[in-house]
Amino acid sequence: CGIVGYIGELDSKEILLKGLEKLEYRGYDSAGIAVRNADGVTIFKEKGRIADLRKAVEDDVHSKTGIGHTRWATHGVPNQLNAHPHQSESGRYTLVHNGVIENYHLLQKEYLPGVEMKSDTDTEVIVQLLEKFSQDGKTTSEAFRHTLSLLHGSYAIALLDSEEAQTIYVAKNKSPLLVGLGDDFNVVASDAMAMIQVTNEYVELHDQEMVIVKKESVEIQKLDGTVVERESYTAELDM
Ligand code: GLU
Repeated sequence: CGIVGYIGELDSKEILLKGLEKLEYRGYDSAGIAVRNADGVTIFKEKGRIADLRKAVEDDVHSKTGIGHTRWATHGVPNQLNAHPHQSESGRYTLVHNGVIENYHLLQKEYLPGVEMKSDTDTEVIVQLLEKFSQDGKTTSEAFRHTLSLLHGSYAIALLDSEEAQTIYVAKNKSPLLVGLGDDFNVVASDAMAMIQVTNEYVELHDQEMVIVKKESVEIQKLDGTVVERESYTAELDM
């Protein structure tokens, strides 16, 4: 399973699909992408191969920001409904997740009693919590950090906020995730190989960090909001 993300000036969907194809070796049962443009966030997801997803993606949807996912189901059968990306009740937040949220059921009972879940995944709790905490008055960064501090388990997450076109939010704990740096773009990937065709400069993320990725900047934060400075490195992979 794996995650990719792109924010920049090029059409994101081809970069995301190519990235997901490079991650196929990790194994998966379904795949999806979410792309953002002036019309909002559009999701394409399918059970089965990336080739099936590629067929489902509409050629005339253009977008400079997007996230993608290959799923290895842990909670909920492999089908289109349980495939990622998942969206919050109002549609404001869209996210992809690799890993397992061990306390998802408790979190759902405690914080989301009135929310009707659309999927059988543990992942959906994350996106619904984000919406709940933002409705309580938190900014997206605050809501994201608060949500992450409640999660027990493993996660690599990429998140879109439909009210904020210029940002991909990212987080990691015990699942692999890197941020890749470009000149007028930045990317996210589980493995540098997924994005080596667009950049070979990467920043490693540590557990329990969240990142605000924009076209021209990358800001790593700890879950208490402290900003972390970290040098990038050059990935050397045989292509
Ligand atoms: N636990 C999540 C699910 O079953 C994510 C699985 C994955 O890592 O792909 O949907």
